[in-house]
Amino acid sequence: MTAVPGGDYNPDMQRRALGRTGLELSLLGFGGFHLVEVTRGEASWLLNTYLDRGGNYIETAAQYGDGISERKIGEAVSHRRSEFVLATKTGKRTRAEALASLERSLANLRTDHVDLFFMHEPQTVAEARAILAPGGAMEAFAEAKRAGKARFVAVSGHGRPAGILHSVQNHPYDVLMTGFNYLDRFNYPQLEGELLPLCQAKGVGVLGMKALGDGYLHRDPATAIRYTLSLPIASLVIGINSREYLEQDLRIVERFRPLAGKEKERLYRTAPELGDYVCRLCGKCRNGAGLDPQEVFLLEGLFDRQMDSQRVVQPAAYALQERLKHWFDQTAWAREEYGRLAARVDPQRDYTALNRLCPYGINIDRKLKVAHAKLTAGEYLA
Ligand code: SF4
Repeated sequence: MTAVPGGDYNPDMQRRALGRTGLELSLLGFGGFHLVEVTRGEASWLLNTYLDRGGNYIETAAQYGDGISERKIGEAVSHRRSEFVLATKTGKRTRAEALASLERSLANLRTDHVDLFFMHEPQTVAEARAILAPGGAMEAFAEAKRAGKARFVAVSGHGRPAGILHSVQNHPYDVLMTGFNYLDRFNYPQLEGELLPLCQAKGVGVLGMKALGDGYLHRDPATAIRYTLSLPIASLVIGINSREYLEQDLRIVERFRPLAGKEKERLYRTAPELGDYVCRLCGKCRNGAGLDPQEVFLLEGLFDRQMDSQRVVQPAAYALQERLKHWFDQTAWAREEYGRLAARVDPQRDYTALNRLCPYGINIDRKLKVAHAKLTAGEYLA
């Protein structure tokens, strides 16, 4: 242990294997998106301090500030290139565009190769197919790999994982990155229930991000980070734009110990962001026939991450909720699927008999009507 102001830390940050790649990554990955918000000097301090403290995974994307994030990384740490695993992303879908994107990224990053080249955000199955189609971006990766410019191909995505699930099912991607946190596990249960086991079975390395739910889980970052790092992922990528956040995140991962099963259960019961509104998908309110409340609440999760309970909240909490609830832009998708549900909510019907079945104290009658209003562009008046 090394003495630092305010306490001790372990300079050998724990590392985990990244699937079948042979790479080993530090528990904390440095997310480069927020580097666009700081000066070049501050970016250099943050990146070099991260490496000095045992971090070894830095990631960015061509889109972050239209190359600004990449250029700051290149300027700050390209002289230490052998000390870290480097990733960038392209949102381009054709071979020619993706190749051009990679060349620009390499120049920005001042390197001759990246370790991970991400196909960025194929949200739908159609987008995932476009990447793999003849003339698609995957051909660019094959060329880049032959030329020694990219070592492994990766895919990333947000929200409901339809596009990335299809990608991993249909192509031998080496690495996947997506969001994992204790709120969205109830909005997109495929993430932990289907995607993670599939990646483990196929030897696909998994990177986590969004442990704090884009900031929604800001009250207790230590618990949020511990939750995500307790999943079978190699590294957790966190966007860092201040010395204070870097220090906080380093301290949490340096002291990491997994959440025990009982601690997780307690978190699901007591987390204020879940409260008496977010459905924990326990299935206890199913009555065997007709309407399944859980099915409706899953679509509400797709619509707005079950953030808007349509109750009065503090102005700051309201502003945060408004900023984040449609972050993944999946509202039209949710409404379409609700329109196809065999059994939908009848706003005139009384569902209060279901309320006593919920171990989390959710007023199912009210929540069903709120969800119905959202999913039909209707209005709910409390
Ligand atoms: S009983 Fe409550 S937590 Fe369980 S599925 Fe129904 S609404 Fe969700």
